[in-house]
Amino acid sequence: MVPDRRVTYIILKSREFVNTLVKILTLENQAGRGGLANPGNFGFNKGMTPEQKTQVALFLDLAGDYLRDGYKQFREEYRFSDDAPPPKPQPPQAVRRPEPSGPTDSLEKIADEIRSCAKCALHAARTQTVPGEGVKRPLIFVVGEGPGAEEDASGRPFVGKAGQLLDKMLRAVNLSRDRNCFITNVVKCRPPDNRDPLPEETGPCIEYLNRQLARLKPAAILCAGRIAAQTLLKTTEGIGKFRGIFTEYATFPLMAIYHPSALLRNETLKRPTWEDLKALRTKLMELDERYALEIREGD
Ligand code: SF4
Repeated sequence: MVPDRRVTYIILKSREFVNTLVKILTLENQAGRGGLANPGNFGFNKGMTPEQKTQVALFLDLAGDYLRDGYKQFREEYRFSDDAPPPKPQPPQAVRRPEPSGPTDSLEKIADEIRSCAKCALHAARTQTVPGEGVKRPLIFVVGEGPGAEEDASGRPFVGKAGQLLDKMLRAVNLSRDRNCFITNVVKCRPPDNRDPLPEETGPCIEYLNRQLARLKPAAILCAGRIAAQTLLKTTEGIGKFRGIFTEYATFPLMAIYHPSALLRNETLKRPTWEDLKALRTKLMELDERYALEIREGD
């Protein structure tokens, strides 16, 4: 068999190379005739990549085969790893959120103003205002569209059937109103017959929500339903277009999901909503180190 022309050329041109090969072949013969069974023994440069080591080993084997046997032997592929193992991929570094600071616009003060508010027509028929409830340093700020009959009667947000489902959904991703959420609505008084709030109602009321946000400084906003998301994002697009996608409101990351009452009416919305909640969980793990730790410890 005719030796590879490139090998022949190098061998003929380089006396030093031939000497090296002789040395290697001698060592190889001491270890048997299995090729460079452990090429690391021949002192590869530590700076060489696994690919470079493989190329050198293949080349030396090829040259040795032709010198010794006159033809190329079959050998298994070499597999080299780096001298230093590659670093393990690390989860994104979670951020420690700053403590709320700034103006002394307390939640109580905002709630007091809401109780006596008559800036829109909704004040006329309300039983109670529903300013919102939750912890003072929430991870997420949940926003619905407006109080319903039970909320109007109790003064608390999301307490009916839809509210119970919302609590269940939040719990599935380690969130709850008594531990790490604040829950409110875009309007703090009940629209009659549970109709959608009108722009002339959301317009003046949004100021309270903005002040609550500025005070609470959550890691993210979760809009429960189309109306809340459309109001904050100033869009008329259907929620199917932007649910599960992070956007921004007043510098806070914002994601919208279907309203829990929509899930009660339509079971097929549960699966995509669960996917959205998982996306929320991933985002919150990036945004808050304590939450990320809780999730990892719970895995
Ligand atoms: S809905 Fe808002 S703006 Fe309208 S009366 Fe109630 S608190 Fe005031």
